[in-house]
Amino acid sequence: MAKVYFIDVTNRDGVQTARISLSKLQKTMLNWYLSQMGVHQSEFGFPFLGHERNYILANLALHRKGAFENMVLEGWCRAVEGDVRGGLTTGVKHLNISIPTSDQMIVHKFGGRLEREGIIREMVEAARAARDGGVETLGVNAEDASRSDMEFLVEFGQAAREAGAARLRYCDTIGYDTPDSIRQRVNQLASRLGYPIELHCHNDLGMAVANSVAGAAGAIDAGVDAYINTSVNGIGERAGQADLLSCIMALRFGRGLSEGYEIADPIDLTVAWRLARYTADAFQVPIPINQPGVGANAFAHESGIHADGALKDRHNYELYDYQLIGRVEQVCEPTGRTITTGEYGGMAGLKYVYERLGIAFADEETGRFVLNLVQYANAHNQAPLTDDELRFIAMYPEEVRQILTIKPPAPKGSGELRSVRTRGKATVLLH
Ligand SMILES: [Zn+2]
Repeated sequence: MAKVYFIDVTNRDGVQTARISLSKLQKTMLNWYLSQMGVHQSEFGFPFLGHERNYILANLALHRKGAFENMVLEGWCRAVEGDVRGGLTTGVKHLNISIPTSDQMIVHKFGGRLEREGIIREMVEAARAARDGGVETLGVNAEDASRSDMEFLVEFGQAAREAGAARLRYCDTIGYDTPDSIRQRVNQLASRLGYPIELHCHNDLGMAVANSVAGAAGAIDAGVDAYINTSVNGIGERAGQADLLSCIMALRFGRGLSEGYEIADPIDLTVAWRLARYTADAFQVPIPINQPGVGANAFAHESGIHADGALKDRHNYELYDYQLIGRVEQVCEPTGRTITTGEYGGMAGLKYVYERLGIAFADEETGRFVLNLVQYANAHNQAPLTDDELRFIAMYPEEVRQILTIKPPAPKGSGELRSVRTRGKATVLLH
């Protein structure tokens, strides 16, 4: 029977969102948590981008070491041959390539440079470059699929399949679909294409989660696997995208979904709480008080009728248990003397903090190496390092060193850049 898989795109769509970002170490931590949760795949970055390169290389190395268990690491790029070839030099083996399929975008982004046939031609060239470059699973993204002509989408999907695509990504790029429309359109698309569909839904009408699970149901009803794109806490372009935990809970507990629509991977929901909190802190975007599952009020009851009912039997006012999603820890912060380690820390503090985590260093040299990494990691994150980050640094020091190494390219041409001030207003950069 066809099943539902999850591809989390926080490390791609989430980080490209305006005004927010993650450090390369924070992105790595996200991969770590997602793998512990049992998420099928992480769209972990942009392999052709210079400043992502060391992060990509190190995460692939971590994967080979087993740090991410079975989770697939997949890179994203435009369906442009050059981007694909550039990205593949990292050794990434799973790739999604993206190109618009709606007339709106074909006309108003490419301005006559490409028409429908040209879109298919570019996609096929990029897909072939991926296949020739040794990509094991290729996803082809139809950007703005929800506003695309169905006949053209089918043609595009068939050409993608022939060029080696394992999945077609149906992107509701601007959040236009509704649960009814996406279920029906994806069902039609899946029936005619006969291979797995990815759902990539945005939240501009507040329906990203509903659309994702409805679209997945449409694919499964047509007999093909569905891959839901999610992000942690729903972070994503503009109003965000489908929240990972909400989609899982909808499939587990939603009426009409909890039977018949099965999640393929064994998900460890107890990681959800740690993952949501880490991500909120890393992005510096607080979890809304009413966020499903992980919001401060998700299991809070105050009004007379609700508190009385919940105390008598939690089923009166709760759909699922808080323990299920790992809300079991008691948060207790020291209020007296506190020793921390970080950017300007030394050996004594480092040893003390690590001892508290149950980690000791074999010799002085190892301790020094870890201290350097901790200092650089703190300088890199510009936020206090979490216990899990400290653990991760000690577990995978070589890979962390590579993740922390970012070197911008020198200017092209000769000489250094210098600025010239002209009449007090504009500043001009010159070689
Ligand atoms: Zn998106």
